[in-house]
Amino acid sequence: SAKRAALGFAWYSEAQEAARLGHLNLLSDLRLAVATSQLQMWLQPKFSLVTGSAVGAEALVRWQHPTRGFVSPAEFVPFAEQTGYITLVTDWMLDQALHTLAIWQTSHPELSIAVNVSTRDLQDKDFAQRVVKKLTASRVPAHSLRLEITESGLMNDAQHSISLLHALREIGMPLSIDDFGTGYSSLAYLQQMPVSELKIDRSFIDGVDTQPGTQKLVKAMIEMGHGLDMTVTAEGVETEAERATIIRLGCDVIQGYLTGRPLHGVALQAWFDGLPT
Ligand code: C2E
Ligand code: CA
Ligand code: CA
Ligand code: CA
Repeated sequence: SAKRAALGFAWYSEAQEAARLGHLNLLSDLRLAVATSQLQMWLQPKFSLVTGSAVGAEALVRWQHPTRGFVSPAEFVPFAEQTGYITLVTDWMLDQALHTLAIWQTSHPELSIAVNVSTRDLQDKDFAQRVVKKLTASRVPAHSLRLEITESGLMNDAQHSISLLHALREIGMPLSIDDFGTGYSSLAYLQQMPVSELKIDRSFIDGVDTQPGTQKLVKAMIEMGHGLDMTVTAEGVETEAERATIIRLGCDVIQGYLTGRPLHGVALQAWFDGLPT
């Protein structure tokens, strides 16, 4: 059985090695992907629950790999974060978002675009400067670009996050706390973060209409967000019943498949252009 264990081990490490090589390939591919426009920026619209109007969109990366086909961000973003390649993706998405916002300045100046920023980006001490440089070059007003940072990312090194957020906020850029409810926030830190939007994680919205316990949690999150002068957004709303519930609980903004799936940036732009202004 020692032999079997050894064989088992050999098989296991071979499989592991294959997986590792697969990811290494994926990562060198990712560098190429950024350079050869295999990445796409998709946009998911967000709507005010008060006025019903669109308030903006969240930018979501899509990777059309030449041989692997579509690679989901859930698959490659975590690896890109571990290796630091995510900063290439962030830079690329910031450029795309600013390009689209520059066009919207004439047609829809009221709409903002939110770009997802990873903890890896936050570790770069020049991150705020990197963003300012791009913003200045694009001539897009700072208030049109929003940055989304996950609750766990912010709390990971809260002292550092607070100073970086203040630097970004000073430029006039709105900031959002993403996946709220999953990241063990320190409320003392949360109060010191200049964040204007709280996005309740999708896991709390899924089935919220049928779960009284979850409704209490969501209500408490909304009240806390409002207490800190934040706009509260519900993510991942899929049904009319979920929408009715979050409205009743006092939520401000809705994002989800019910009101709009992510679309290629160009397609969403065309859709916004068709809206009455
Ligand atoms: P996220 O930031 O929480 O983004 C929302 C995710 O929920 C998106 O998945 C979106 O397509 C999905 N979604 C929206 N509405 C619904 C709904 O009603 N039901 C369901 N089931 N899902 C909904 P996506 O695009 O696959 O992205 C997954 C995650 O990958 C994102 O979660 C984010 O953490 C990361 N990600 C995506 N794009 C980027 C990026 O450009 N940079 C970074 N750093 N991360 C990104
Ligand atoms: Ca997000
Ligand atoms: Ca989220
Ligand atoms: Ca659901």
